[in-house]
Amino acid sequence: MKTIAIVGAGLVGRVVALNLIKQGYEITLFDKDDATGNNAAAMTAAGMLAPLSELETAESEMFELGKHSILLWEGLLKQINAQDAMQLVGSLILAHPQDMAELEQFISNIQHKVSIAGEIESLNAEDIEKLESDLSHHQQGFYIKNEGQIDSQQFMQASTNYLLSNPQIKWFTKHKVSKVSAEGGVICEDDEKTYYFDLVFDSRGLGAKKDLAGLRGVRGEVFWLDAPEVKITRPVRLQHPRYKIYVVPRKNGRYVVGATQIESEDQSPMSVRSALELLSAVYTIHPGFGEARIVKMLTNCRPALADNLPKITKENKLITINGLYRHGYLLAPSMVEQALKEIL
Ligand SMILES: Cc1cc2nc3c(=O)[nH]c(=O)nc-3n(C[C@H](O)[C@H](O)[C@H](O)COP(=O)(O)OP(=O)(O)OC[C@H]3O[C@@H](n4cnc5c(N)ncnc54)[C@H](O)[C@@H]3O)c2cc1C
Repeated sequence: MKTIAIVGAGLVGRVVALNLIKQGYEITLFDKDDATGNNAAAMTAAGMLAPLSELETAESEMFELGKHSILLWEGLLKQINAQDAMQLVGSLILAHPQDMAELEQFISNIQHKVSIAGEIESLNAEDIEKLESDLSHHQQGFYIKNEGQIDSQQFMQASTNYLLSNPQIKWFTKHKVSKVSAEGGVICEDDEKTYYFDLVFDSRGLGAKKDLAGLRGVRGEVFWLDAPEVKITRPVRLQHPRYKIYVVPRKNGRYVVGATQIESEDQSPMSVRSALELLSAVYTIHPGFGEARIVKMLTNCRPALADNLPKITKENKLITINGLYRHGYLLAPSMVEQALKEIL
């Protein structure tokens, strides 16, 4: 049996590990942080699975990969006993009356990319009320069925528990890897050791910047709000000429509100400007958010390549999966499946 290392236990690393465990492999995981994954982009993400809504700024091939990932998530979540972390009841896209042209352009951009986008439903106030009774004050919008979200924090916690208790996994936490090599070497900064494996997966996300040409970070900021009096049951996007925001419901009245998208690798706390934009926009989606409690403000960077598309590379014993940008949850299962098909 091959000895396998996974360097970076964020989203991609965990999806690789879950797949390899099913195939009976023993794996060594390396991460610079502890096993919670609290600093990974995977933990900050809203976890939206929105293959059509995301097409406005993405290539049409992402649509098929995304649709396939949604099918694969079912098995992955079952494996870690977190089936209820995925919700697929469609998403709603709204705009203020003065921004309707913006929204119609958004839908038209998507419809030019894939024919199935013809199925996007246009909604009037009555239709919106039927779907989300708390949003009946909105006059017009669009509904995209079969979209949804993974509760990313639940996925991270359940996968931590599963991987830590799995005898096929050896997890080197707090091990910053300074180099991975095509010869199967994993060089750790902290214990100054080099470990050798038959196969090494590099899934360090932005941590691989110095080894992956063109990799950059794209800053994103999100709020976690507790608003028990707001009842929104599916992801809602607000199309706005200056910023695009979404509200993603979690369990027990919690909402993830995000996200800014700024060409910067600055991971410092949220700026006042971003806070003002996100909170004022969410307040216009539902005034009940005025009484919400701010639980967390998070900042992280999405790992992206020049074309904003994900990439798999293989060099001898080293496989790199990176560049998942703003679509990690949407694409990771498909990308990992593709990588493993080619290799194993
Ligand atoms: C604000 C925000 C919102 C998002 N929303 C969504 C969304 O709604 N839907 C969606 O599909 N995607 C979303 N994403 C994108 C998604 O989070 C990323 O695409 C995904 O997390 C990338 O996965 P990754 O494994 O490559 O990187 P990460 O998840 O960041 O994992 C990288 C791991 O590598 C470890 N590491 C780094 N360097 C080293 C090193 N030198 N040695 C050892 N370990 C190292 C890190 O500690 C980390 O655990 C969002 C991202 C952000 C920031």
